[in-house]
Amino acid sequence: MKVPILILGGGLAGLTAAIHLSKLGHAVTVIEKNTYPRHKVCGEYISNEVLDYFKWLDLQDIVDQSQRINTFRLEMDKFNTSEVILPLGGFGISRFLLDNLLYRKAKAQNCQFIHETVSAIRFHDGSFKVDLNSGLQIEAQIAIGSFGKRSVIDVQLERKFIQKKSHWMAVKAHFQGNFANNKVGLFPFEGGYCGVSKVEDNQLNICYIVQTEVFKKHKTIPEFTASVLYKNNGLKDILRNAEMLFESPLTISQISFDDKKAVENHVLMIGDAAGLIHPLCGNGMAMAIHSAKIASELIHTNLNAAVFSREKLEMDYERVWKKTFKSRLRMGRYLSALLLNPALTKVCMKTITRFPTLFKYIIQKTHGKLIPIPNQ
Ligand SMILES: Cc1cc2nc3c(=O)[nH]c(=O)nc-3n(C[C@H](O)[C@H](O)[C@H](O)COP(=O)(O)OP(=O)(O)OC[C@H]3O[C@@H](n4cnc5c(N)ncnc54)[C@H](O)[C@@H]3O)c2cc1C
Repeated sequence: MKVPILILGGGLAGLTAAIHLSKLGHAVTVIEKNTYPRHKVCGEYISNEVLDYFKWLDLQDIVDQSQRINTFRLEMDKFNTSEVILPLGGFGISRFLLDNLLYRKAKAQNCQFIHETVSAIRFHDGSFKVDLNSGLQIEAQIAIGSFGKRSVIDVQLERKFIQKKSHWMAVKAHFQGNFANNKVGLFPFEGGYCGVSKVEDNQLNICYIVQTEVFKKHKTIPEFTASVLYKNNGLKDILRNAEMLFESPLTISQISFDDKKAVENHVLMIGDAAGLIHPLCGNGMAMAIHSAKIASELIHTNLNAAVFSREKLEMDYERVWKKTFKSRLRMGRYLSALLLNPALTKVCMKTITRFPTLFKYIIQKTHGKLIPIPNQ
């Protein structure tokens, strides 16, 4: 099978690129190992950075179904809290609903979906050969890597970050519970922090990220909840009065915030496959969407040039990607390193709750501006 543009992974970044490129008239094939809809471990708060671009993609209905959020609340405990108005604000929507709406839009624009696992990708003689678990092989002129933070494809490509130990794991579930509709809450605890915010239909998303070594001391989620999460009395109040809507929480491990390359083996990496920012910065989804936009625009421009130059496409993408995200990711990595030191984290968080201006400054440094509307 031979296709012009192949997208490896149909999460947020892959689906956005599929919608963008098909809107411009390109034939797009997406390979996604799962089916839709499905829940995903995520804080589910999206920055309003994406609003204008979503309008351009004709995705306004997504925002209409979400919970609008304008305030960030940091709660060390009931007596150490601070709130700031988010410079751009954002909205809460479950990945169950969001990814499914994007999938349906991509399907409506005639994108082709193959629900299989990619096992390998090679670049040879100017084109990509992609192997699927079923034995099917696909050849493509352009390959976009949107397979998320960790995949068998990273192992096959021998990417550097995959060889290092990662310290983080995460747990998430939806609840019926009490929390202000317009706020995203951050509740630090020993070894990590928990995000709390509303998504559609008044559901409460509670998602925490924690150092694996700290979690392992407690063996089970209920034990960890009682011994560690409950030490933050604000979080304890929320959890004890909430009713879980999932049969059991979702978990993921091996979360790495290490440097990655935006182009690897000629594949243009987008979303988490190009770099994951610490969720503390609350901006990974907007970055995934923005990187999909950058890649789509450059692919379109380069495919329409008198002579297609892969070298130019790769150089342009790497340059624009770095310019757009490098400093945000650096700030995210500083925060990640800080969080590995619990004593220092406690002091810093307490300082932030006392100095709202500092709090505002950190938020500005880790968030972007409105994604500009494409000029095609
Ligand atoms: C704990 C946590 C909380 C977060 N909270 C927030 C938040 O509140 N706000 C925010 O903006 N960001 C948040 N993020 C970040 C956000 O979730 C990611 O940045 C975003 O999901 C990236 O989208 P993506 O498309 O790159 O990856 P994904 O959405 O993970 O999509 C990757 C897709 O590739 C598929 N795939 C992988 N391997 C293969 C294969 N071999 N073959 C076929 N398909 C494959 C997967 O099934 C998946 O569908 C959080 C992240 C974590 C870890």
